[in-house]
Amino acid sequence: MGAQAPETKSEGGTSKPENAAILDRIRTFNLRPREIRDHLDRFVIQQTEAKKVLSVAICDHYNHVRACLERPELRETDYAKQNILLLGPTGVGKTYLMRCIARLIGVPFVKADATKFSETGYVGGDVEDLVRDLVKAAHGDTELAQYGIIYIDEIDKIATASSATGGAAGRDVSGRGVQINLLKLMEETDVNLASQTDFAAQMQAMMDFQRSGKPRPRTLNTRHILFIVSGAFDRLATSIKRRLQSSSIGFAAGSAGAASASFEQESDYLQLAQSRDIIDYGMEPEFVGRLPVRVACQALTADDLERILLTSEGSILAQYRADFSGYGIDFEILAEAVREVARQAHKENTGARGLMTVLERVFRDFKFELPSTGIKSFRIDAATVAQPRETLLQLLRENAARQRDVLKAEVDAFAARFLEAHGFELVFDEGAIAALIEQSLASDKTIRAICEEAFRTFHHGLKLLARDAGPRRFTITREVVANPEKAVSDWVLQQFRNESAGAS
Ligand code: ADP
Repeated sequence: MGAQAPETKSEGGTSKPENAAILDRIRTFNLRPREIRDHLDRFVIQQTEAKKVLSVAICDHYNHVRACLERPELRETDYAKQNILLLGPTGVGKTYLMRCIARLIGVPFVKADATKFSETGYVGGDVEDLVRDLVKAAHGDTELAQYGIIYIDEIDKIATASSATGGAAGRDVSGRGVQINLLKLMEETDVNLASQTDFAAQMQAMMDFQRSGKPRPRTLNTRHILFIVSGAFDRLATSIKRRLQSSSIGFAAGSAGAASASFEQESDYLQLAQSRDIIDYGMEPEFVGRLPVRVACQALTADDLERILLTSEGSILAQYRADFSGYGIDFEILAEAVREVARQAHKENTGARGLMTVLERVFRDFKFELPSTGIKSFRIDAATVAQPRETLLQLLRENAARQRDVLKAEVDAFAARFLEAHGFELVFDEGAIAALIEQSLASDKTIRAICEEAFRTFHHGLKLLARDAGPRRFTITREVVANPEKAVSDWVLQQFRNESAGAS
């Protein structure tokens, strides 16, 4: 019956001295909304409104934290926490925005999907696990963890069935239970850091107690943890659109109607979501009430995706560049190729995630093949994006000669390892090298694998030959490569004959 902790992704891996510096920064928090926005602009394309709203909310939150640290009596006053509801389609930068902010401030960040939780915590996870994960992300530093950020995605999937959505939205009544549990967490509660269902943590607590005679403070108050919940709320966009259209027929369209005139995508209507809409969708009114900051992220166009590749400091292209540079390989990507990647990615309908899908497909074979060749640079044009394999094969053909040098170097490397391991010098002649290269290309195996297999027991025979200060240097020809065991037995026979001839 053991409950499994939900899969959460945490980051903010910091060391103790770093933690002290971050805590210091929180105590003297002095960032301005514009500075946060400027920082976000370096990484996140578009989402202008979201950046503004988030920057303000973050400053308010950490200013309040600073004020509470300066004047502890403030803790007793009422303060509406700036928990945030982020609406918008998948892959448009919702998580990325928050991750960039967490990194800027240095606080730990955890993300989980709301669908992983259950009301009782026995199946799936317990929402309090999020707080425990935050402590893990802060490397056990509870002082830092209490100022962390918890991001809960797919919140729309725990909407309860509602009449407004035809009863189809909610998964079941337990969605309500999870919302209520989250509510407590978002508000203020003490979370027991030793989970009731985490056996290892219970043991640890017991051992601590036995060693020190007193239990360590093992709770964390969630007062200063910032919660972000997000979801696509896709059918919500449709219903807002319908509401606006019917009211624009019946009444004057108003400012919402005017705003919606410029909307290009259905998800844009999320910008006009009101509490009522979200409650009708199946979220509990108290829950919606605890999320005073609401903002919608827009869908990304193909042009936006192109800009992400070209200008975002976190562009996935930079990651590919780093991956290839690990092998000393560089690549050039033409503007036409970037445009084509963006166009294909846009068709995936998964926002910027489509870029990863398309680039993975484009680069896959290059990543596999090129590190074993002598090729140090390549170029990606629009044709490569359409047919990556064709470009790769062409590149391999053009570089066949250089490829031979690389393979030859692998033969030398094997000979060096053999000398080191067994004390025999193998001199591969041109014929032997050619034979090994042919085998390597035909069998799609590395030279190393071929040599290791062919010469696995070779040294036993050589030891026999060299028993009384015999030869320690052997020329390996094409024939030896073809049948090393026969070659050794021929050599042994030859040596025996020579010795017999010498003796008689
Ligand atoms: P979601 O909106 O579903 O939370 P994410 O923020 O996780 O999407 O986006 C996935 C990845 O796509 C990010 O890690 C980032 O690399 C990239 N990405 C998404 N949106 C943007 C954007 N607006 N600008 C730059 N990169 C983006």
